[in-house]
Amino acid sequence: MPFSSLGLSPALLKALTDQNFTLPTPIQEAAIPAILNKQDVLGIAKTGSGKTAAYVLPVLMNLQQSIGVKNRHVNVLVLTPTRELAEQVKEVFKTFSKALTQPVKTLAVYGGVSINPQMMALQGVHVLVATPGRLLELVDSNSVSLASIQTLVLDEADKMLNLGFKEEVNKILALLPKQRQNILLSATLSNDLEHIHQILLHEPVVIKIAEEE
Ligand code: ADP
Ligand code: MG
Repeated sequence: MPFSSLGLSPALLKALTDQNFTLPTPIQEAAIPAILNKQDVLGIAKTGSGKTAAYVLPVLMNLQQSIGVKNRHVNVLVLTPTRELAEQVKEVFKTFSKALTQPVKTLAVYGGVSINPQMMALQGVHVLVATPGRLLELVDSNSVSLASIQTLVLDEADKMLNLGFKEEVNKILALLPKQRQNILLSATLSNDLEHIHQILLHEPVVIKIAEEE
């Protein structure tokens, strides 16, 4: 199935061609239409299977539609376990949002660096990619409001739990609007993750891509 049959805009299709993405990976083929349809998604597929673009593309499409109405606060929150992943995800958002006519501002925030430049950079951000601890610091200092979040993504959710972020993630969840889309990506599905996904996801589309034998 080509990317062009998944419901993406001509601008994003052009960006995919520019990136030499010719065919969607299995997780992309299944997740893109579900996310465009505003459904919750649980996506389990091994590392390297293209999970980032599987949510970045449809999230950008959906964001384009709401950006005119609610452009004053962060619309999309992506939580990642590490700063390296936060930077990578931000880059993928930047790469694909270049193609769009409506400007989309993406920022990555994480600990281990000073917080002040991040506070300054938050103005006008649509997509915030964050590690949990730093995000809570920014919330505690009133630097960011999470009240307009329409889409929450938990990337590498398995690693997030393994690194002990459960409590921080729960604190963040309590600050988000109840009405929102939730997307959870992981390489594995542990018992802990089963538990989180049952709390977090509302009638999710469950996508499990089996490893080739
Ligand atoms: P995961 O999050 O599942 O570990 P990534 O999203 O990091 O995987 O993608 C792994 C690599 O595959 C990246 O270098 C990405 O640019 C590339 N990639 C993703 N989707 C495609 C595609 N449809 N065609 C070609 N390359 C792709
Ligand atoms: Mg990934």
